[in-house]
Amino acid sequence: MSENLTAKQQSVISDIFKELKPKPKTNALEFAKKHGFLSPESSAVTGRFVPFAYQEEPLKAMSDDDIELIVWMKSTRVGYTKLVNFKVAYNIAEDPATILVFQPNDGKAKDWAKDELKPLIRDMPIVGEKIIRTREDDLTMKKSFFGGYISSRGGKAVSNYASATARDVVFDEYDRFPDDVDGEGDPYALGVKRIESYWNGKVIIGSTPRIKDHSKTEAKFNETDKRYRYLPCPHCNHYQILEFPNLIIPQEYREGVKHWKTEDTKLKCIKCEELIDHKNKKQMDSKGRWLQTKEFFCCDNWQKPKDNEHWYYNEDDKEDKKNGEALCIHCDLTAEYNRNGRKKRGYHIWAGYSFQPNTTWVKIAEAFVDALGNVEKMKSFKNTWLGETFEEKTVKLESNDLLEKVEDYDNVPDGAKVVLMTVDTQDDRLEYLITAWYKGETSYNIKAGKIMGDPINQHVWDELLRIHDTPLFEQGGKQLKIYKSFIDMAGHKTDEVKKFVRKNKSKFMMLKGDSREQKENDSRPVALMKKSTVDESIIMWVSTSKAKDIIFERLTLNQNDDGYIHHNATFDEEWFNQITSEKKVFKKNKRGFIEETYIKQRDRNEALDLLVYQLAAVRLLQQQIKGFDLSIKEDS
Ligand SMILES: [Zn+2]
Ligand SMILES: [Zn+2]
Repeated sequence: MSENLTAKQQSVISDIFKELKPKPKTNALEFAKKHGFLSPESSAVTGRFVPFAYQEEPLKAMSDDDIELIVWMKSTRVGYTKLVNFKVAYNIAEDPATILVFQPNDGKAKDWAKDELKPLIRDMPIVGEKIIRTREDDLTMKKSFFGGYISSRGGKAVSNYASATARDVVFDEYDRFPDDVDGEGDPYALGVKRIESYWNGKVIIGSTPRIKDHSKTEAKFNETDKRYRYLPCPHCNHYQILEFPNLIIPQEYREGVKHWKTEDTKLKCIKCEELIDHKNKKQMDSKGRWLQTKEFFCCDNWQKPKDNEHWYYNEDDKEDKKNGEALCIHCDLTAEYNRNGRKKRGYHIWAGYSFQPNTTWVKIAEAFVDALGNVEKMKSFKNTWLGETFEEKTVKLESNDLLEKVEDYDNVPDGAKVVLMTVDTQDDRLEYLITAWYKGETSYNIKAGKIMGDPINQHVWDELLRIHDTPLFEQGGKQLKIYKSFIDMAGHKTDEVKKFVRKNKSKFMMLKGDSREQKENDSRPVALMKKSTVDESIIMWVSTSKAKDIIFERLTLNQNDDGYIHHNATFDEEWFNQITSEKKVFKKNKRGFIEETYIKQRDRNEALDLLVYQLAAVRLLQQQIKGFDLSIKEDS
């Protein structure tokens, strides 16, 4: 019959058949490559979205019906939010189904709807044309489309999880969600309930992990196949995970001072040990592979894919479904062979892989050097740059270990930058500590003592003044003076302290410790200068929990490290018992969030307080005195 039709007629018929054939389902990656657009509100670079090679597989997985859980354990700056955006756009435009996007709180949910979702709908016509405008949607953080809706919600209240049915649930910054939402279970469990009725429902989790053994994201990641990104060495082609310890930051000594040459940072191949320049990264990533590292059991053996290096790979397999799965070294079958049901994918990625201008290996090295010796910064570096949890060391401190490390020095070791005294007030005595401070905030505790007597008595204060004024000597003979003394004014004998300090302003300063638990992202420094609103007196405010974090970290250092806290042999067992008398614990507050707090394990801990005040004092001076900076980086 076809020979009777004109060419024109034939072409019309074939067009009709094309329409009738079910549209081949694209995946989220193909969709994003074709239609993805980066809006000015949320991207430094505006325009067409071109995924980095490392983003391709995770984005594709977001639309893979065989996968029920995806966990991105990540640093910041790797583009997770963008991938979530394109997953949402894909749902709206090509694969309609309801999707819930949870943020840690209502404010962040609002921000996401405003800064990410709205521009996405505006700038991607294929998405915008599917949106059905309703009055309700305008008022809520919800957009309806043919076949479902997208809703942005805060993750703190159980009511935000209730009653909605969805096929896909996304969590952003999952470690910042409560462990238990209003006593109804963890956010993941609540999310899974929403997707129960779908055979192909999916939960997607992305987050920077935080504290080791308390990270919900890490726990979920451990349930997945734990994929890491392997890149080939440009010299020997050996595939390996890009790991921070393999970034080599050269060091040199200038006039005896250690100096980091961050600008020469390079990656060292674990196989051929050749150094790899950052400019090779793009080429390496284009050939990179996401490989399973989760251990598995097969042929009577537990097997570690990281050691065996035996993975499924088929260049010709267009579907690519098993790409990256570990193979049993005995039977050559994939680790999935032993598993039933749908899959759980995990991806670990950190800034070292990223292509943002502020994540070059040099920038990472700079951030690392900047964090050295500062436990807060190091914690943040591990979380936000490396995408790793931070392990708190504080619980391991033993007073006996410290007692064994006391040193022989009576005088002040040479090179002191400043000598300070801190004083704790009690009802029947004053306790003091004299400390010399050096480059790198290394400190030598010179002498601790007590002045017995109720501080209402003048002789107690006369004695304190005498100690402040007594000169000290460096080993080389140079005479030193205590630059300033800091006295605790809270709790005991506040009036007496005030009276004394007012008379001796040039030598003494009052301080007040604040032991409140640290809040989320607490950016307050260890010490601050404050003026009393009552009588205009100047007070040093001290964040004691922040200071304790730093001190406990420093007590675990080696003697040659910058920041080490030295003690001479005059410090006794009681002293060390006191400075190790508190332990950091993690407890859940009423809203289900983990908080860090210090608890006393002994009654007396004045020694620890004196160390806390010393650190605060030396930090305050560095803030207040121009050019007085004990940080190491000053030498670079
Ligand atoms: Zn190599
Ligand atoms: Zn096997």
